[in-house]
Amino acid sequence: MLRRVEHTLASRVQCTGIGLHSGKPVDLVLRPAAAGTGVLFVRTDLDREVRFPARPEWVTDTRLATTLGNGRVELQTVEHLIAALRGMGVDNCTVEVDGPELPIMDGSAAPFVYLIQQAGLSPQRREQRRLVIRRPIEVREGNRYARIVPSRDFKISVSIDYKHPAIGRQALQNLVVRPKHFAREIAPARTFGFLKEVQQIQAHGLGLGGSLQNAIIVDGGKILNREGLRFPDEFVRHKALDLIGDLALLGLPIQGHVKTMRSGHELHRALMAEIRANPRCWTVEVAANTSAPDQVDEQVRVPRVALAR
Ligand SMILES: [Zn+2]
Repeated sequence: MLRRVEHTLASRVQCTGIGLHSGKPVDLVLRPAAAGTGVLFVRTDLDREVRFPARPEWVTDTRLATTLGNGRVELQTVEHLIAALRGMGVDNCTVEVDGPELPIMDGSAAPFVYLIQQAGLSPQRREQRRLVIRRPIEVREGNRYARIVPSRDFKISVSIDYKHPAIGRQALQNLVVRPKHFAREIAPARTFGFLKEVQQIQAHGLGLGGSLQNAIIVDGGKILNREGLRFPDEFVRHKALDLIGDLALLGLPIQGHVKTMRSGHELHRALMAEIRANPRCWTVEVAANTSAPDQVDEQVRVPRVALAR
């Protein structure tokens, strides 16, 4: 029986963009990494390199974006790149950044998907492990919730409900997260903000790189971007992107169906804490599979291997 192995990039790729908060140029380099590395961020602009594994215990802030830190040094806005790596089936990658935040690019994960496609994927010798949900886990806060239940695939159902006429209620149901779907349906969805909030953030010296080039800006019932939306429900698709990026911090591909209602980074973080606190609700297993990440599908059988923790 073939087992699915871990994948890294087949070559080094790089790009330059601007930081959302600083408004300054940032260079980003993605490099192949050894099996078992996971996603490892490295800040290269300091006297000594500082490394930030993309893991929940390294998350220091989730208010405006997901920030990793070690108590002294931070790295902001990592979630869209982490989502792109997970969504495209990259298990191991070293990400070098020469500043305190990742480039925002166009506010979506599509430019990162393009980079990953340019690099190509390379299979590694280590069998891929995945986190298989065996019993439901849920976190709730008022009328918001995030829940994960057993499923054959990594599947998401995301609902949002904004009191803004330009957004309103939107739902994405039963989307199986595979590279092809991710690249087409999720990655191009841009982040969004409300004009008043953006102005407030900028008054505090943050979000200086934010513009109509890298976010959908909503004012009252109107969308200010001249080109309009990329999908009629681009907002909920971006929520799905953030969810995939946040959950990727668990460090393993997930086999389970994640359902969220009015969630955000905070609730996603709470769900991860709840998953980690309840090892009886999941197992870590080696996935049987074919060679390419795109073929992870209904035929996946998961032999029970170990309760690795
Ligand atoms: Zn986002």
